[in-house]
Amino acid sequence: MSHSNKRQKIEGIDNNPYLAHRQLAKSPLDGWFPGRTTAEQAQIAENGEINPFTNKPYSKRYRELLKARRTLPVHAQRKEFLDLVHENQFVVFVGETGSGKTTQIPQFLCYDILPHLKKKQIACTQPRRVAAMSVAQRVSDEMDVKLGEEVGYNIRFEDCSGPKTMLKYLTDGMLLREAMNDPNLEKYSAIILDEAHERTLATDILMGLMKQIAKERKDLKVIVMSATLDAEKFQRYFNDAPVLTVPGRTFPVEIYYTPEAERDYLEAAIRTVMQIHEYEPPGDILLFLTGEEEIENACLKIRTENEELMKRSDLGTLKILPLYSSLPPQQQQRIFEDAPPPRVKDGKPGRKVIVSTNIAETSLTIDGIVYVVDPGFSKQKVYNPRIRVESLLVSPISKASAQQRAGRAGRTRAGKCFRLYTEKAFLKELQEQTYPEILRSNLGSVVLQLKKLGIDDLVHFDFMDPPAPETLMRALELLNYLGALDDDGNLTGDGILMAEFPLDPQLAKMLIESPKYRCSNEILSIAALLSVPNIFVRPNESKKQAEDAKGKFAHTDGDHLTLLNVYHAYKTNINDPEWCYNNYLSARSLKSADNVRQQLKRIMERCDQDLLSTSFEDRNYYTNIRKALTAGFFMQVAHLEKSGHYLTCKDNQIVQLHPSSSLGHQPEWVLYNEFVLTTKNYIRTVTEVKADWLLDIAPIYYDLR
Ligand code: ADP
Ligand code: MG
Repeated sequence: MSHSNKRQKIEGIDNNPYLAHRQLAKSPLDGWFPGRTTAEQAQIAENGEINPFTNKPYSKRYRELLKARRTLPVHAQRKEFLDLVHENQFVVFVGETGSGKTTQIPQFLCYDILPHLKKKQIACTQPRRVAAMSVAQRVSDEMDVKLGEEVGYNIRFEDCSGPKTMLKYLTDGMLLREAMNDPNLEKYSAIILDEAHERTLATDILMGLMKQIAKERKDLKVIVMSATLDAEKFQRYFNDAPVLTVPGRTFPVEIYYTPEAERDYLEAAIRTVMQIHEYEPPGDILLFLTGEEEIENACLKIRTENEELMKRSDLGTLKILPLYSSLPPQQQQRIFEDAPPPRVKDGKPGRKVIVSTNIAETSLTIDGIVYVVDPGFSKQKVYNPRIRVESLLVSPISKASAQQRAGRAGRTRAGKCFRLYTEKAFLKELQEQTYPEILRSNLGSVVLQLKKLGIDDLVHFDFMDPPAPETLMRALELLNYLGALDDDGNLTGDGILMAEFPLDPQLAKMLIESPKYRCSNEILSIAALLSVPNIFVRPNESKKQAEDAKGKFAHTDGDHLTLLNVYHAYKTNINDPEWCYNNYLSARSLKSADNVRQQLKRIMERCDQDLLSTSFEDRNYYTNIRKALTAGFFMQVAHLEKSGHYLTCKDNQIVQLHPSSSLGHQPEWVLYNEFVLTTKNYIRTVTEVKADWLLDIAPIYYDLR
């Protein structure tokens, strides 16, 4: 059937008396198919169904999934939900994790609003990239369409959507970017802000924007979804919007605390997982840890311990799966695989262990989890405006988080949660709620975006929780030094350019200054390499070899130049599939850097920025690059003191060069990409600069000291 035919058929729905009468579309969920007359409906039901979006018969898998979807708690509330949406511009939707919010609600709206008929889309935001990708995949399966066509996703540097897309999952940061070029978000007929309880920086800003946009666009529907029950704050903020609560459908979870504080939570966590495997009845395990390295490490240890255990007891198969955001999508999907089947010889059941970051707390629901192991920590952003340092720190979680984590054990039947801290610590030491990210972030990027959106009066912006005045001031100051805002706080030409890049303002500044130093091609590569996960691989068992391999690329003047060397070597050897592996480099990160570079290059071209290089033979080749780095990062410079340690300029923090640095010496002045706050303060990804460049490039900043 041709495309135009298809449209006509679907368009028929507008004339459907049933629809006009009820003002509420039915969907295949109740065995009703858009665009068909009642007679056709009956026939379809008889003969097998046709997907109205693809005009192909539904697959067997579709029918299986449909059966499961009908049992989700949100399904019972579909009519009530759509009624509320029809009567109100804002609706707050609250439901326990796993009740079907993220996967079903956008579909309810799709069938109801039929956005594609008006050439519009429905957006559903996610704080995490992994969730956006994974859920889009799941929903395209559920709707029996191809991912990237009717259902797509959009995360920074990766757009998997197309002209046919009517439902798009995207990170909250991406929607905020879209608003910069389309201030009223005209292309959407409904916007769903999911996981609002997470209170990420971008979601908080979006909530404020939605209130403004809604005044201009009476036709826009906004749904705010949250997993926690204290929805009153959202309700109040959205002018007393109605709240719809899906009754929870969870099973009881028994909570166990440790009698004494654990000294080493990682060791305790692994021990607990092994004990569950050995002594507890069947059921999968979910262990919460804080980040990639820790998780990979733990998976390795659990695997080793399990091999030991298998020698002395006869247990079923244990399948160990990591989950964190930089894991490739195919591997992320593996968490949804079933537990290993019972063993053939004796029917001993298998068990699945998932070792995950916070992603599994509310963003992704994994069925079959019966045991949760919660050490009580997660990596959290902290920002200290006084010393202008934003950092990720492993910190104790909140009570609300601990409750969410425990809840994961009761999804399919009664479960157990092992908290690796004392009950007293839970009651006395954990704070009630995690602080909203806006109170713990550097606001440089966000303020630039808000200015680009034309929101000048930041003090009176309708924040749900306004950031500290000092934090806002720091952001304005940063943007002023970078030349993005003038002294009156107005966006400059440079500022407008910088806002085009989905990057921190320093990186954007470095890019737009690079043509001046005749090295925009090289700076593009460096900016891309700084925007992907670490390209160096350092396996525990071959640290020495990895270091030697890295040594081959090392540039004594700085890590940024080392990165560039790697990239050039990578491009030369791109046809050798073994090359990355042999050189202890992450093929995935390098490939993704290559892709990021392409996209940044396109933005440079669109903004008429020249793409230039200094000849490699020219002795200023590297100097020019270092000067361009300085143009963006002159505020992140440290000076070597007589005492032998480095002091950051302006804030006088004592810091050390990170041990990973390839600098061959201790230069007097260094510029750094990142301040790492651990037991010691480190600066990471460091390059030597000269005092006279600093004065030349940032005279105002350095004269004011
Ligand atoms: P909520 O947003 O309310 O937490 P979801 O819509 O994410 O709930 O999930 C509802 C159900 O859909 C889950 O309980 C799970 O059974 C199923 N589900 C979601 N994503 C996937 C997936 N990628 N693979 C398999 N099942 C999934
Ligand atoms: Mg969800």
